[in-house]
Parts: sequence; structure tokens; C-alpha cells
Amino acid sequence: FSGKTDINLFSQEMKSIRVSDIMSVPVIVSEETSVYDVIVSLFLEDVGTIFVASKGFLVGVVSRKDLLKATLGGNDINKVPVAMIMTRSPNIVTTIKDDNALTAAVKIIDHEVDSLPVVERIIKDGKECLKAIGKVSKSNITKLLVELCRGGA
Ligand code: ADP
Repeated sequence: FSGKTDINLFSQEMKSIRVSDIMSVPVIVSEETSVYDVIVSLFLEDVGTIFVASKGFLVGVVSRKDLLKATLGGNDINKVPVAMIMTRSPNIVTTIKDDNALTAAVKIIDHEVDSLPVVERIIKDGKECLKAIGKVSKSNITKLLVELCRGGA
């Protein structure tokens, strides 16, 4: 960047792009799924983070390191459900489809996570529930940066 104006222009550009423009399809498993099967999904779907849902609602997030840690404990990973090792709601950092790309990127950096579930809030029996409709990861943000720099976005 040659100066302040360029940086301002770039940050304006980042803010003009919505999460819904850059999000990917999330990989979601149910909370009874074994750690073994989640590891298999991680390879088959080629992702680093998997979301966990119960009755269609987001209840947890599981990362590569969570799964690696679970394999070190000496337990039979065929018998350990993912619910035992996931990061659970309400500790999940989320975004919504109308957030801008910079807001999502800042959340990823500030909370030191690789990805955020894109959620819709639904009130069910007077309780707020989250539905995961997408995923924004460091890869989505990096792809966006490359597109912006190539002038393709
Ligand atoms: P890794 O553990 O593979 O480096 P992350 O940095 O994304 O991947 O995960 C670090 C920790 O944060 C893990 O315990 C994971 O469960 C948790 N985590 C990942 N994504 C989120 C999120 N969006 N909100 C809250 N916790 C998360």
C-alpha cells in the first residue's frame, strides 16, 4: 500500500463484502457421532473444523486439535461421542450472513479460531437456538484477499 487512502479504500472494500458472499457449506455431525467417525469426515470432506448439531441446532464446534487430543487419552475413539470433546454453546464464536467480511476476519483473529459458524437465530419454546447455515474460515478470508488483490472481486 502506498498510503492511508489505499488502506481506507481496501478496508471499505472488505466492509462492502458480506459473509454470505464468501461463506462455504458447513460440515455438520450429530452429537452422538464417535470421535473416530468425525476424524473420517474431516478427511473425506477436507475441512479443519466440524460443527455439531442436536435436533438441527448448533451445539458445538470441533477442531483438528480437539480430535488429536482425544486420540491421546488412551480411550477407544469409536466409543467416545464428539459431544464429550467439542467446544460447546454458549462458548461458540459465531457470525451472521449480513456481517461484513472484515467483522468476520476480526472475530477469527481476536478469538484465535480457524473458522466461524454462520448462524441464524431462531426462538424455539422461548429459547434462542442457533442454526448453522454456513462457515467462514481463514481460507475464505484468504481467498477473498487474493481476489481483491487480483481485482476479481
Ligand atoms: P485447531 O485447534 O485445530 O488449531 P482452532 O484454532 O479453530 O483449530 O481451534 C482452537 C480451539 O477453539 C478448539 O478447542 C476448538 O474447539 C475451538 N473453536 C474452534 N472454532 C471455534 C469457534 N468458532 N468458537 C469457539 N471455539 C472454537
